[in-house]
Amino acid sequence: DRINIAIDGPAGAGKSTVARKVAEQLDYIYIDTGAMYRAVTLSAQRAGIEPRDSEKLSVHARTLDIKLAPGENGQAVFLNGENITDLIRSREVTLAVSHIAANETVRELLGRLQRQLAESKGVVMDGRDIGSHVLPDAELKIFLTASVQERAQRRFKEIAATQSITLEQLEQEIAERDRLDEQREISPLICAKDAIVLDSTSMSIDEVAALIVKLSRT
Ligand code: C5P
Repeated sequence: DRINIAIDGPAGAGKSTVARKVAEQLDYIYIDTGAMYRAVTLSAQRAGIEPRDSEKLSVHARTLDIKLAPGENGQAVFLNGENITDLIRSREVTLAVSHIAANETVRELLGRLQRQLAESKGVVMDGRDIGSHVLPDAELKIFLTASVQERAQRRFKEIAATQSITLEQLEQEIAERDRLDEQREISPLICAKDAIVLDSTSMSIDEVAALIVKLSRT
């Protein structure tokens, strides 16, 4: 029988790569909820809306049509029909997203969308509040962590070629994003009580994915 798998954890723990591999191996659908928060962030930035202007942000968020579609690199993201898959990975979006994600209306809207996508089971959903809030009944919940140094190093290897940022800056930004995600009032980043904690600091992505696939079959 198909189940739902929630994969939560701090920034850069490898959630999306792991989730994509698990989905592939189980023939499930991968849903990157961070991409949805990034889409709202990009849209708000284009509209010149400050994260702290929660009234304006709420109204704006209600007008958005966000869609995820399977793409060559796992998943493509569409905002009102426009393919924004690459645009949402910019540093500008990354630095602002946790502020946008603290908005109650934004969380409500995206949470509802996420639940709809999981209704027919067979999804691997990665995020911050999936096991604790969005899909509390998910049959398998994973909380994926790694030391902040390891996470910064992995991310550095990915982006160093395209973005001018030092490892130290990156480590600071990741730590700050974690802090904001952990400390927000509504559905913060938290390990669900019934989640299995996996520390990927000294495990490869493939090992983590294989372990989750195995757990999904028990
Ligand atoms: O997973 P990713 O790093 O792309 O997520 C970007 C941001 O979106 C997170 O730092 C967090 O602020 C927000 N987010 C969230 N809840 C989720 C997924 C992401 O608040 N379920």
